[in-house]
Amino acid sequence: MKRSVDDLAIFGGTPEYEKPLHIGQIYLPEWADFVNEFEAIFERSYFTNHGPLVAQLEQQLAQFLGVKHVICVTNGTISLMIAARALELSGEVIVPSFTFPATVQALSWCGLTPVFCDVDHDTHLLLPEKVEALINENTCAVLGVHLWGKACAPAALQMLCHKHGIRLMYDSAHALGCSVGGVYMGNYGDLESFSFHATKVLNGAEGGCITTNDDDVANRLRTIRNFHADHTHMNSKYRINGKMTEAQAAMALLGLRNLKKNIANNEELYSAYKRHSSTWDHVRMIDTENHDDENNFQYCVFEIDADASSITRDDLVTVLTAEGVLARRYFYPGVHRIEPYAKSCSPELPVTEKLCSTVFQLPIGASVRTDDVQRISDLVGFIMRHGDNISKKLSSSR
Ligand SMILES: *Cc1c(COP(=O)(O)O)cnc(C)c1O
Repeated sequence: MKRSVDDLAIFGGTPEYEKPLHIGQIYLPEWADFVNEFEAIFERSYFTNHGPLVAQLEQQLAQFLGVKHVICVTNGTISLMIAARALELSGEVIVPSFTFPATVQALSWCGLTPVFCDVDHDTHLLLPEKVEALINENTCAVLGVHLWGKACAPAALQMLCHKHGIRLMYDSAHALGCSVGGVYMGNYGDLESFSFHATKVLNGAEGGCITTNDDDVANRLRTIRNFHADHTHMNSKYRINGKMTEAQAAMALLGLRNLKKNIANNEELYSAYKRHSSTWDHVRMIDTENHDDENNFQYCVFEIDADASSITRDDLVTVLTAEGVLARRYFYPGVHRIEPYAKSCSPELPVTEKLCSTVFQLPIGASVRTDDVQRISDLVGFIMRHGDNISKKLSSSR
């Protein structure tokens, strides 16, 4: 427990954590289970090309999400690229800038033009009326992001896209196991794309999948995933190696067995943050609960009140990082501010701009325990109380 500002690690004190605490889920299966699965892979000598474990994973995910088709792929970025090709998109795609860069980079790899749309200040999600204002004759699709596991207006966007004759796809990398109206994400739009990166709630050590209830779209997705033209699928102008390996599927299957348990752990951490953060000065916790529905609590997200706080978000993150609490700025600096997008003249994004300079995340996931949340909370509370003094000391040392 810090008694004075001089006790902070940034000013030479002992860090709160010797071994840093990360954000991101990083769930690891039991070693014995992992060894069993890999011995079986070695015995079968079947490593990739739509193996039995990938088939099992696709079937289990389809059952869990209540969706007709699950197409497993190598990661969540390739997943978006295959998805865009399967929908035969060309032209402009409306997409938030307040997202992970891969959402937008995948569009660029497909020769599509991202058109950035601002988001709602409270939910951080696309607002259908802002989306509609950007639709023109070149618009071919909307790519929504279920940010922080919250549903990105599926009913309203579906209606809007139908009205304008354009496609609707979702980047659902945050939303595995999240539902709205009793229906799991994975069932919305023309298709949805998930990631099984190690930082996500289901860890395939890289991996992802695309879900759809449309037979024709599913057929196209399976065709494009495989560089070989075979007899079972249609022809396609575009193909790629997007196959998931058996090793990835083994990891993901082990994670799927424990998904409910991991989500329950996340929820406990989320509730602890919610209790503690109400006492911090000038920090608001973002409500990511899908009330009456499920969330996976993959992230704990906060926003600093830049007008009232004497310490900036960036300084807060710097001070926490020195303590071994690897808080992260989200999304920094904002996709519209990175290459190649910074060059093009993007529409005004006042809410996105503000969020990119005020939002941060704190550690959550399998390696974090409830008493860590208590320690982190004491630390954040202390830093915010002494924000003025800390800021002055930081600027005099610069
Ligand atoms: C993680 C993530 C991706 C990228 O997924 P990868 O599997 O790492 O390629 C895309 N979009 C969002 C919103 C993400 O969080």
